[in-house]
Amino acid sequence: MTTIELVQVSKKFGTLEVIPPLDLKIETGEFVVFVGPSGSGKTTLLRIIAGLETASSGQILLGGKDVIKLPSAKREMAMVFQSYALYPHLTVGQNIGFPLKMAGVARAEREARVIKIAETLNLSPYLDRRPSALSGGQRQRVAIGRAIIREPRAFLFDEPLSNLDAALRATMRLEIMELHHKFNATMIFVTHDQVEAMTMADRIVILNQGRIEQTGSPMELFTHPVNQFVAGFLGLPRMNFIGGEFAKSYGVKTIGIRPESIALSSGPAAIDHPKFSVEVGVIERLGADSFAHISDSSLGKMTMRLEGDSPIRYGDRIMIELNPEQFYRFNAEGLTIGSPIIRPITSVHEGVVTTINNKKRKRL
Ligand code: ADP
Ligand code: MG
Repeated sequence: MTTIELVQVSKKFGTLEVIPPLDLKIETGEFVVFVGPSGSGKTTLLRIIAGLETASSGQILLGGKDVIKLPSAKREMAMVFQSYALYPHLTVGQNIGFPLKMAGVARAEREARVIKIAETLNLSPYLDRRPSALSGGQRQRVAIGRAIIREPRAFLFDEPLSNLDAALRATMRLEIMELHHKFNATMIFVTHDQVEAMTMADRIVILNQGRIEQTGSPMELFTHPVNQFVAGFLGLPRMNFIGGEFAKSYGVKTIGIRPESIALSSGPAAIDHPKFSVEVGVIERLGADSFAHISDSSLGKMTMRLEGDSPIRYGDRIMIELNPEQFYRFNAEGLTIGSPIIRPITSVHEGVVTTINNKKRKRL
């Protein structure tokens, strides 16, 4: 496994610059997720790292060595795509062992390695089946197996879970995280899904129009977004934004408040907590939580978290209370002003380092 470093890497398609020069360093064994809306340059960046696309400028260092001139095969990266691209006429075992066959590895060793990989991926019972007789998740695991067997220097995943149903996506998320730990693998995982980014990443890289908006651990980005784009991108339901006179009264262009920071008001509010009577629209019940869509003439439309079994119903009028300590504040350029007093990240201050599996926990 290896470090991956991008130095002033950029990409133009014709005259259109889709990735302005950017820098990024990924440590050995790190699980980095590139997340951003469609068209933000995630796939292009991954393909440049893999050597499937040429950069217009800059350097790519693998383990400190510039590989920009190396063809894809020589970079020894494993890529797993959304479409699994399995060979339909080969069995699971043959699919997994295919890269070794291409590399001229002897049959006995090939089979031994296929058996081992199949065990890791819970595919042992299916080795003789054809891909058409597998479920979507099993096919995805075969594709991963085929990628792993070459013992690559890094794994690159491009939206590998997008074709799966919701339950399977959740399972596969866990399996890929488990693999990351088992192999202590350097992984880059591309997704447009902020839930995948939040749940899987050691570190998230948020892309927008080919630029890195912010990088950091999921909770760092969630609690301390540098701008309104990041604040609105991470978190489900997304952060509420309030502009107009209300924001002006706090001396800013926009105020952001997360759905879970809006409180039901019972009794008198704290002196500096503004109170509002709001109308309740549709309520989404998720079981443990409910999310109510509320509106008010001065605040606009917002989403707030309620208890799962909250008796509040569509059409009700309720009193809510906002705690200014939990406001995110944005200026006219959309940059975060100051830092909100929401759940400070204690580990940054403590600098906790524990040793698990001989692998040093990274300092945040
Ligand atoms: P993402 O994976 O984040 O959805 P992409 O990396 O696929 O984004 O695309 C980034 C931008 O580059 C988009 O505006 C896309 O239209 C453009 N683009 C990607 N590939 C090409 C290409 N081969 N030719 C021209 N433009 C391209
Ligand atoms: Mg893409």
